[in-house]
Amino acid sequence: MEISIEKTTCNLPEGAYKAKPIKVSVNNEKLSVTDAEILVSGGRGMKSPENWGMLEETAELFGAALCCSRPVTDLDWRPHHEHVGQTGKVVAPNLYFAVGISGAIQHLAGVNGSKIMVVINTDNEAPFFEAADYGIVGDAFKVIPAFNKALREFKEAQN
Ligand SMILES: Cc1cc2nc3c(=O)[nH]c(=O)nc-3n(C[C@H](O)[C@H](O)[C@H](O)COP(=O)(O)OP(=O)(O)OC[C@H]3O[C@@H](n4cnc5c(N)ncnc54)[C@H](O)[C@@H]3O)c2cc1C
Repeated sequence: MEISIEKTTCNLPEGAYKAKPIKVSVNNEKLSVTDAEILVSGGRGMKSPENWGMLEETAELFGAALCCSRPVTDLDWRPHHEHVGQTGKVVAPNLYFAVGISGAIQHLAGVNGSKIMVVINTDNEAPFFEAADYGIVGDAFKVIPAFNKALREFKEAQN
């Protein structure tokens, strides 16, 4: 899978598009889940804790903090302080990037305050797509490596 990222200028008048422009600054220090402007979040769709390396890379490229759904911490794939939702942390980042998370109501209760939500899920009927601003129906194990590659190349071209 090939993903390309391009910097563009948008001259549309406000109101002509659904998404509102947001200001996101990239920070490479370790961030807490509640303070980060960008969150990269993984769910049970990530299949096992060994697969978190690709999300860690996305988080590093974005200057984001990592978080996750509750089953992920119940299974001890990730530490409990990363769990967001009704029974976890309530967050309101500028960008919430959800990978392999179904979007159950108890999860959404903790993340609905996010300004922009981007969802990657293989199931086009996952409830998260109803709440998301942007969605990719696809396999995280194909989409995330391609996305990381495109993001890395984009950042290198900026330097
Ligand atoms: C009282 C109560 C409180 C709760 N509190 C919380 C809470 O605070 N936070 C919370 O998160 N949950 C909470 N839950 C649990 C909640 O109801 C859901 O069970 C949970 O959020 C589901 O987690 P999940 O989406 O990671 O897993 P799943 O429901 O198993 O969903 C996994 C998703 O990954 C997708 N997927 C699978 N493979 C891939 C792939 N290769 N690429 C991309 N996508 C893929 C699937 O299509 C699916 O949509 C609570 C439940 C109860 C009853």
